[in-house]
Amino acid sequence: MARPSNFPPPFSTRDYVTEPTDPADERIEVGVLVVGAGPAGLACAIRLGQLIEENPEMAERFGEVPVAVLEKGKQPGSHLLSGAVVNPRALRRLFGDRFRMQDLPSYGPVHGESVYLLTRRSALPIPPPPPMRNHGNWVFSLSELGRFLGEQAEEGGAMILPETTAQKLLVSHGRVVGVRTGDKGRNREGGELGNFEAGSDLVAKVTVLAEGTQGHLTGVALDRFDLRGAEPQVWELAVKEVWKVAKPLDRVIHTMGWPLRTGKKYREFGGSFIYPMGEEMVTIGLVVGLDYRDASLSVHDLLQELKTHPKIRKILEGGERVAWGAKTIPSGGFNSLPRELHAPGLLLCGDGVGMVNVPRLKGIHYAIESGRLAAEAAFRALQRGETPASALSSYDEAVRDSFIWSDLHEVRNMRQVFQRGFYVGGALASAMTMSKGKAELGKMKAEPDADQSLIVTDRDKSYPTPDGKLTFDKLSSVFASGNKTRDDQPNHIRIERRVPREVAELWTHMCPAQVYEVGREDEDGTVIVDLAPSNCVQCGAITAKGGRLTPPEGGSGPEYTVT
Ligand SMILES: Cc1cc2nc3c(=O)[nH]c(=O)nc-3n(C[C@H](O)[C@H](O)[C@H](O)COP(=O)(O)OP(=O)(O)OC[C@H]3O[C@@H](n4cnc5c(N)ncnc54)[C@H](O)[C@@H]3O)c2cc1C
Ligand code: SF4
Repeated sequence: MARPSNFPPPFSTRDYVTEPTDPADERIEVGVLVVGAGPAGLACAIRLGQLIEENPEMAERFGEVPVAVLEKGKQPGSHLLSGAVVNPRALRRLFGDRFRMQDLPSYGPVHGESVYLLTRRSALPIPPPPPMRNHGNWVFSLSELGRFLGEQAEEGGAMILPETTAQKLLVSHGRVVGVRTGDKGRNREGGELGNFEAGSDLVAKVTVLAEGTQGHLTGVALDRFDLRGAEPQVWELAVKEVWKVAKPLDRVIHTMGWPLRTGKKYREFGGSFIYPMGEEMVTIGLVVGLDYRDASLSVHDLLQELKTHPKIRKILEGGERVAWGAKTIPSGGFNSLPRELHAPGLLLCGDGVGMVNVPRLKGIHYAIESGRLAAEAAFRALQRGETPASALSSYDEAVRDSFIWSDLHEVRNMRQVFQRGFYVGGALASAMTMSKGKAELGKMKAEPDADQSLIVTDRDKSYPTPDGKLTFDKLSSVFASGNKTRDDQPNHIRIERRVPREVAELWTHMCPAQVYEVGREDEDGTVIVDLAPSNCVQCGAITAKGGRLTPPEGGSGPEYTVT
């Protein structure tokens, strides 16, 4: 049976590591360079601004541009998508008495919660298991929070460079010295258009990679410095929508069961979240582990199916979809964390290294906390004038002493137990939860998502026909993401184009943005995969399932505003 990992993409880490190439006087020099304006990267920039303000004598050591943040989206927030029910712990620490939770752009605290076990027609309420209790947490739109954090970072002196991708890692004498940004204005064949702008070398004393899920340079750095953890990383794919609704929703809702199948052979793990966003909006999403086997499974279409359930249809009735998006979530947990979170000149934060508590579906407060701790480690190193390899190791120690480490340790096998099917997995997960992680289940092996052998069923035949009101097709979803990627830019998706039909069908169904199509069949029975890369919303699923997403031209992709 075909496995996507048998058809690796034409991609080599070596192509994305280089010495600086710009002449020395043309390089842009910054103190700390942060890649990614998500919660991790922006928390890092904000904390650095606070530290420089508190220690003005240090400003000189950081140089003319003390902190720069690169963001591939049109602005901070454009590529941010989440639930987002946030544990306020890390935000409180980051802002201290500068801001109270009420001062942040949120939809208020969680007022109640329900969990349902769904079948096609029924919804059985069950007591919320401890990880799904959200008392004390606050509801946000991560995209809106990202814009706010971006403003705070700029007020603290950071320079934000939007529409700019970090393409290559600059490494000199075994030490990371910055990144090279991507070119702009190339045509599909790579030729230069009239508005061509070459990328440039940004050199920094410390580089912080806070790229989020499937981080391009994070993956490159993990390979280059041999940092990969004990277990491979695995991911889930989440597709979500924001709805304007006629009636306010008064609590957060999670569902398990339908439309996923419980049979062990399908390996379908996941569930849905439905969160209120004030009186007028609701966010609804479906999360599915990418170790599933059925090539005809489409998370986009399963979410459409979920909305037809009587219980859920009622929440959305009389409403209107206002936004759509998709993203992966790293779910390997504690055992998939890298061996070390630093390398010479380099720090790694947030989702890029898998700091997510999967049973709680929470990563924002870990991202913020890791960004804050990275800022403090970088600041300490510069304060002491240190540059050698060991100078940044205090970041690893700080993360190990933090709630990030203890929380992730407590749920360390939570994702892996579901490899044994829904019921056995559920029982083992309960044992871990009841014992607060003390139940020793041994270190469970995680299998890479792309290693799963594929099956093909007729699951796709039962997806609802889009009606444009409650249910939608992929292309109208891409439109709702605000994606306006230029059609004629170079292809940024690396896949093996000639594969067995099952693999091509897997990618076609999996991609929530209709990027892949099964093309011509060759005499040997393999098919050619056709691509429409400009539809891509950079969810990262292809990297989990046998291909490789690289960053397209800066400013491409979705333009999320309320996700
Ligand atoms: C559907 C969904 C629901 C979730 N629900 C919740 C929830 O309710 N509560 C919770 O706490 N967590 C939730 N999470 C997880 C949470 O969103 C993440 O843990 C969090 O966003 C991670 O923050 P980050 O800063 O590490 O990465 P991100 O938020 O992904 O930010 C990374 C940023 O870096 C940019 N970037 C990446 N690579 C480059 C590059 N090479 N060059 C330039 N820019 C780059 C990206 O464009 C992006 O803006 C959810 C996730 C999803 C997908
Ligand atoms: S092509 Fe883009 S949108 Fe489609 S699966 Fe790959 S990363 Fe996600």
